[in-house]
Amino acid sequence: MNTSPPQRIPPAHADMTQFDVSGGELLVGGKRLAVLAAQVGQTPFYAYDRSLLRLRVAELRRALPQAIKLHYAMKANPLPAVVGLMAGLVDGIDVASAGELKVALDAGAAPAEISFAGPGKRDVELRQAVAAGVLVNVESARELPVLAAASQELGLPARVAVRVNPDFELKGSGMKMGGGPKQFGIDVEQVPDVLRQVARLGLAFEGYHLFAGSQNLKADSICEAQLKSYELALRLAEFAPTPLRFLNLGGGFGIPYFPGEQRLDLAPIGTNLATLVERASREMPQAQLVIELGRYFVGEAGIYVTRVVDRKVSRGQVFLVCDGGLNHHLSASGNFGQVVRKNYPVTIGNRVGGTLRETASAVGPLCTPLDLLADRMDLPVAQIGDLVVVFQSGAYGASASPQPFLGHPAVVEVLV
Ligand SMILES: *Cc1c(COP(=O)(O)O)cnc(C)c1O
Repeated sequence: MNTSPPQRIPPAHADMTQFDVSGGELLVGGKRLAVLAAQVGQTPFYAYDRSLLRLRVAELRRALPQAIKLHYAMKANPLPAVVGLMAGLVDGIDVASAGELKVALDAGAAPAEISFAGPGKRDVELRQAVAAGVLVNVESARELPVLAAASQELGLPARVAVRVNPDFELKGSGMKMGGGPKQFGIDVEQVPDVLRQVARLGLAFEGYHLFAGSQNLKADSICEAQLKSYELALRLAEFAPTPLRFLNLGGGFGIPYFPGEQRLDLAPIGTNLATLVERASREMPQAQLVIELGRYFVGEAGIYVTRVVDRKVSRGQVFLVCDGGLNHHLSASGNFGQVVRKNYPVTIGNRVGGTLRETASAVGPLCTPLDLLADRMDLPVAQIGDLVVVFQSGAYGASASPQPFLGHPAVVEVLV
């Protein structure tokens, strides 16, 4: 039994302090990592800390105006237990497929507060959305007659918002999803015509959805995108068949992954949104303002844990060969949208802060050099059986990875 008081992990990155450490061992949900591994019954696994999820939502509520509705974009982490927890903490769930819709409904999310975005919605998915009573963020005029037919057949309203592809980009985002030619949303130039079709087909118009991009750490560019999105919606309001009831201003809030990255400053975003809430109370009094976040809610609450199976030295370089890698955690390997590969924050979870250190690479078991979790990092000296921990792993982890590749065992996910 270790009785030394918990200490914060020495920051490999300025802000990597969300998990406590006791006697050199990482604590997850108050539990020693080795005990958690025993409870899970295998490595590799993902663990998500529910207290960190709660903390993050509370922190956002404090920083942003009360009138702003928070939606969880569940594609960031669709584990049913996580979606269930988030459904009870936020104001709505954004889904991107009928598969996600099922998870959200099963989790108890209120259909009135679910919205469904995504290009290439199949007819059956649109019909499922109407039957469930959720809001469809229309991304193509093709969806409109399908929704109208489902509405007529089922005798239910088809609730729609129009996802607008704006004429601006979210500056400084890791992934741009609006502005220029895009497969997402409807070009702003085409929106008036689409709205005429919405009215003609008798669809229940609710408002607009804008989503400019992802993984942005610059508060200024997020504020700018939110302001421009608001003003675009205001301009488009005159073409709307009914007053706006819903305006989704997108999200894109990023988390720090790499050395030198600064945590997103919420204060200016809160101030900016307060201005927009005040304007909206005059300019679109019936509209609810929504922001939708995936990564920001869940990313920092999760870790990936894999065990060292072999320790090899090749021409002077140390390799910690682990029982999982790219197959479970494509993002950390650098193959999910990174242009230049950088290391996620990594430590040896049972030797945190160890003073005996070396430069080592942590690799997975796959027969490809892409299977790299840590490339020549300064780490505590690790032995076979030790636990390699990848932080910032709560978003775009298991579900965004090619698990069957090479036929290794599936990863287990737990909410603790
Ligand atoms: C992916 C996505 C999100 C979530 O993005 P994060 O960067 O994880 O916050 C939100 N909205 C839409 C429409 C998306 O496609």
